[in-house]
Amino acid sequence: MYPADKLENWFYGKGHWSQSSDENWFDWRWQLRNRLNKKEDFQKYLQLTDAEIEGFNIAQNKLSVSVTPYFFNIIDPNNPNCPIRKQVIPSSQESVISDTEMADPVGEENSMPVPGIVHRYPDRVLFLVTDRCASYCRYCTRSRLVSNAQDYGFHPSFDEGLDYIEKNTSIRDVLISGGDPLLLSDDKLETLLTRLSNIKHIEFIRIGSRVPVFLPQRVTERLLDILKRQENLWLSIHINHPLECTKELYSVCRKLVNSGIPLGNQSVLLKDINDNPETMKSLIHRLLMMKVKPYYLYQCDLIEGSSHLRTDPSVGIKIIEELRGHTTGYAIPQFVIDAPRGGGKIPLNPNYIVNKNEEGLTLKNYEGKKFHYPSGKTVKTNVTLIP
Ligand SMILES: *Cc1c(COP(=O)(O)O)cnc(C)c1O
Repeated sequence: MYPADKLENWFYGKGHWSQSSDENWFDWRWQLRNRLNKKEDFQKYLQLTDAEIEGFNIAQNKLSVSVTPYFFNIIDPNNPNCPIRKQVIPSSQESVISDTEMADPVGEENSMPVPGIVHRYPDRVLFLVTDRCASYCRYCTRSRLVSNAQDYGFHPSFDEGLDYIEKNTSIRDVLISGGDPLLLSDDKLETLLTRLSNIKHIEFIRIGSRVPVFLPQRVTERLLDILKRQENLWLSIHINHPLECTKELYSVCRKLVNSGIPLGNQSVLLKDINDNPETMKSLIHRLLMMKVKPYYLYQCDLIEGSSHLRTDPSVGIKIIEELRGHTTGYAIPQFVIDAPRGGGKIPLNPNYIVNKNEEGLTLKNYEGKKFHYPSGKTVKTNVTLIP
């Protein structure tokens, strides 16, 4: 039997910063000020490998390194293959750029009618509002602009973005992302959300954020208050591994849900981090315990220098196959590839149709057993009319 997960086994505490006061530790600005950025910061607590040390040099012109003390604590300092470590500590392998990789892997630059707005689907837009994050994921799909290590100089005007949304009445859904929107000041965020929700044709707003995961301290009473006041706000967070589900994150998710914000999770399938059914199962079970719906599982985008973190798409399909039917349906994310050059998200599913003909479908269930389901035509011949 699968052993039940218990909250008391989840990570909690100040870890390496046990000497810091509660006042500092629970202050999100203190967490940001005390982020680990340079290799010397990391070397205080763990032994960097040669590949990681070289990674810091490459990162300078690629994507900044930054990790909050809170998130750093989840890293196992004695395990060079720690799944948390590999998400945020750079590697020399980031200099390997394969010929299928791109600086803008999902073709956002070509669908930007105004700076910061990506308009790819008919009824919804992606609104990029900042280039800053609380910590930087080494596989960031937007590393061309995020952290500004590549001198992109991302300074979108909110006015221009809001004007565009206002003028395009076919837009009913706005996804606010970046960078991380929850790093905006309370006032800026509140103004943005209020202006968006005042646009008559907007019926759905969501924020994409990894702040609850990197910096749960940011979810203050004031922030909850701002979010609570929005009528149609959802939040998508980004957790890749069950170890990221800490007691702090649990508590923040509870507060968000209790403030009326539905939560979804987007994971990225990452080699040797979460690319097996056991890890993914543990993650999605923890997500349900936190009242977070697993939304998407992404194939890792073809971002430059990420091949060491990428699996073959068949790995993702296989994982879904080992989850579907074997555990709670609510827990199963949709596996997608965000197609190169602006194709958008394309779902990839295990094939449950073994055969299809005039008579109907031969289907395979989660145990591999076969079942026949009749075609519409066959059903009709057997209809009994009720007098
Ligand atoms: C992911 C994405 C969306 C939202 O897509 P959903 O399938 O509705 O989650 C919208 N616009 C862009 C450009 C996106 O990349």
